Amino acid sequence: MKYTQANIPATKRIALVAHDGKKSSMANWCKTHRTILAKHILSATGTTGALITSQAELEVTQLMSGPMGGDQQIGAKIAEQQIDMLIFFWDPLSSQPHDPDVKALLRLAAVWNIPVACNEASADMLLTSTLMNTELPRTQPDYSEYISNRIR
Ligand code: PGA
Repeated sequence: MKYTQANIPATKRIALVAHDGKKSSMANWCKTHRTILAKHILSATGTTGALITSQAELEVTQLMSGPMGGDQQIGAKIAEQQIDMLIFFWDPLSSQPHDPDVKALLRLAAVWNIPVACNEASADMLLTSTLMNTELPRTQPDYSEYISNRIR
C-alpha cells in the first residue's frame, strides 16, 4: 500500500458515538468540554446526538441511530474524508446487536488513520491537545494508486 499526506483541519469534523451504558458519561463529558467542542463541527449517531444537543446545548448533526445504520454512516464519512476525529464511548460490559458495525467503524478509523478515543481518559487527552487548534498532517492510504494497481 502506498500512502499519501492529508491534513486534519484546525476546525475538526468530530463524530461522537456512545453506547447506552456510556450515554450519561458522554453527555457529562460534552458538558465539561463544551467550550472546546463548540469550536468544531459535530455529528453523532441518532440518540447520542439528541442527548448531546439537549444536555450540552451543542449543535450536532444527528445521523441514524447506531443499531439502525448510524455507525455505518460514520464509517462511510470517514472513508469519504468527511470526518477527522472519532470519540466513541463503546461499552465493554454489554453486548451490542450491531457489534459487526462497531467493529467496522473502528476498522475504518484505523484504515484512514484518524484520531480515535474509545474511553473518557483518551478523549480528555485528545481534546486538550494543542493540536486541536491547528491543522496537522495525517498519513493516509493513496486511494488512486490503490485503484490503479488493482486494474493492472
Ligand atoms: P445511538 O447509537 O446514539 O443511536 O444510541 C449509538 C450506538 O449504539 O452505536
